[in-house]
Amino acid sequence: MEYPGNLFVVAAPSGAGKSSLVKALLELDAKLTVSVSHTSRAPRGQEQHGREYLFVGPEEFRAMVARGDFFEWAEVHGNLYGTSRAAIEQRMSQGEDVILEIDYQGALQIKKLFPHAVLIFILPPSWDELRQRLIRRGDTEPEVIAQRMENARNEVAQARHFDFVVINAVFETALFDLKAIVQAQRLKYATQLRNRSAVFRALDLIEAPSAN
Ligand code: GDP
Ligand code: ADP
Ligand code: 5GP
Repeated sequence: MEYPGNLFVVAAPSGAGKSSLVKALLELDAKLTVSVSHTSRAPRGQEQHGREYLFVGPEEFRAMVARGDFFEWAEVHGNLYGTSRAAIEQRMSQGEDVILEIDYQGALQIKKLFPHAVLIFILPPSWDELRQRLIRRGDTEPEVIAQRMENARNEVAQARHFDFVVINAVFETALFDLKAIVQAQRLKYATQLRNRSAVFRALDLIEAPSAN
């Protein structure tokens, strides 16, 4: 599949700071839009349908899987999560840059579908700090925290399959790193050629069509 927009995929173990970083990035970058995922889990705290997730319940989720509505989907911490075609196809075909906040299994599925997608893994600075952040967030039961910490061991081992790694120790530093990755992708030769073709043409960098 060829789309004019860039596709960024951010994964991290729960509590590493992925949602906070992506939210801050979106506030700084008007050209970036986030894809809202579907999930079978119930809303937490202040979460709203259509803002954090589209909350559909397990049956509706399975029906969407059967209809082929998802680009990718995965079971994470016992719940189902997926990126629907509708969530990204329209925006990417219009040339917008889209960011997906998904788990590593989904990220690796996306890389197979879109080899140019930019995969970014966010690491916490330590296991202790990860646990503290989950507790501080205060929206999960102790057994949920234990399960997420256990899953995190397996998740961070997947970072080696990603293009970039951001260590979220100091938030502003991590945000700066994330911005740098987005900017670097936009400055790649192929992207500049596509988006700034008038400049390339003016500088005779685009070959004239051949006669035959
Ligand atoms: P590589 O160097 O060929 O592995 O790929 P790059 O990462 O340099 O990307 C090549 C081009 O693909 C860049 O201009 C990207 O903007 C563009 N690109 C980024 N994401 C996507 C995507 O999801 N689909 C397609 N078709 N192109 C993308
Ligand atoms: P995720 O989306 O990866 O599950 P969140 O963005 O919800 O993680 O962050 C988990 C918690 O850690 C939140 O309470 C957030 O405010 C906090 N947090 C995020 N980044 C940092 C950081 N660099 N230093 C301290 N706390 C952080
Ligand atoms: P949470 O319930 O804490 O919001 O998210 C749990 C996990 O599910 C996180 O790792 C998150 O990245 C992942 N996730 C959220 N949306 C999607 C999605 O659309 N697809 C996949 N594969 N994972 C997702």
